[in-house]
Amino acid sequence: MQQAGRHGYEAFVLWGGRFAGDGRRFEFISAYFPEQTTSRGEEGLLVTVEGEALFRVNRAFYRRGLTLAGQVHSHPTDAYHSDTDDAYPLMTLIGGLSGVVPDFGDGGRARLHEWAWYRLVGRGEWASLGEETRITFR
Ligand SMILES: [Zn+2]
Repeated sequence: MQQAGRHGYEAFVLWGGRFAGDGRRFEFISAYFPEQTTSRGEEGLLVTVEGEALFRVNRAFYRRGLTLAGQVHSHPTDAYHSDTDDAYPLMTLIGGLSGVVPDFGDGGRARLHEWAWYRLVGRGEWASLGEETRITFR
């Protein structure tokens, strides 16, 4: 993300994982950087992942017993879900998470508290995370 950001582009990473322990915890185990095209349009920056590339991500996760349940992408400045983010997610699993990283990922994981997180609750419908959800890196 930082690398793409140095060229002025956003980037998408997809996360695969599985339920752990008592089933109340979901562990993301693998991050996949799908083949993507980034461009600058009238509406701002746009990242496109073709269907075939998305298929390869799903197949790679499936082979490892993982589910594509998270997407994380970078923004040039503020972290929030834009209308485009709402309408065209790569991760389409109800209950799955979407994270937005500010400043093209500058500062890395240390700025996790500044990332914006949403949960897919319906088709094109995202909700901010409630108190019941905590995101941590190990
Ligand atoms: Zn976005």
